[in-house]
Amino acid sequence: MQNFNYHQHTYRCGHADLDMKDEEYILEYINMGFKKIAFTDHCPQKNKIDKRENMRMEYSERKEYLDSIKKLREKYSDKIEIESGYEVEYLPGEEENLRELKKDVDKIILGQHFIYDNNGNLKIIDFNGKVKFTDIEIIKYAEYISKAIELGIPDIIAHPDVFINARNGFGNIERKAINIICESAEKYKVPLEINLNNIFKKVYYENKVIVNLPIEEQRDKLKNVVYPYREFWEIVSKYNVKVLYGIDTHNRGQIGLFNELVQFANEIIGSEIINKLNFIE
Ligand SMILES: [Zn+2]
Ligand SMILES: [Zn+2]
Repeated sequence: MQNFNYHQHTYRCGHADLDMKDEEYILEYINMGFKKIAFTDHCPQKNKIDKRENMRMEYSERKEYLDSIKKLREKYSDKIEIESGYEVEYLPGEEENLRELKKDVDKIILGQHFIYDNNGNLKIIDFNGKVKFTDIEIIKYAEYISKAIELGIPDIIAHPDVFINARNGFGNIERKAINIICESAEKYKVPLEINLNNIFKKVYYENKVIVNLPIEEQRDKLKNVVYPYREFWEIVSKYNVKVLYGIDTHNRGQIGLFNELVQFANEIIGSEIINKLNFIE
């Protein structure tokens, strides 16, 4: 079983548990037997392009965030390896700012949540599936990921299948988008993440508390899960691409459900495909 997680948020982004200290997450990881983790909170923006509230830390919070990680790294060095990082999005014109962020940390994960539309406005993937992307926009979305990989920005692609939220159904355009992502990931050896947060949110998290019913009752709720998306990983399995699980932790108690979340992710994707995927050791 994977004993590392490179997708961890903090209260600073404004939409994780606000009363949860960085150290409490570390204690949960140690408790679960994890050996290595990376804090990868939503990056601050120098240019405020994404104007939504409570999505990311402020630029002025960077130092305190990195100091906190450094302190924990030293304090728990005999129990767990702790890295620093950011979750970023790629946008044309932001290359220099992204490189500046990358210099400060051990890991950059690309959680691409938006593109510029034809009018130069930010078009954001909505987690409730309310915003739909056109065929052209979904290809552009895949090309943004591909471009970020080419530029050497991300170490990992987080939830590469999240764009399914912005589509009605699955067909040739989706296949084309997935192939664009996979070709770059293979060429530049950048792993793809099977994200566990949508399973957590749809199956275990109701009205801000964890609901842990018998597994058969929980399984009924899997139909609400959008990603991981089986067809995406079926295509990935045909490429020489590494994959890993990412908890995408925002809440207290989420890490403790890791084994159940992985089990459900594997059920969604199917053991035949899971067995063909090339997991990072
Ligand atoms: Zn988040
Ligand atoms: Zn995330």
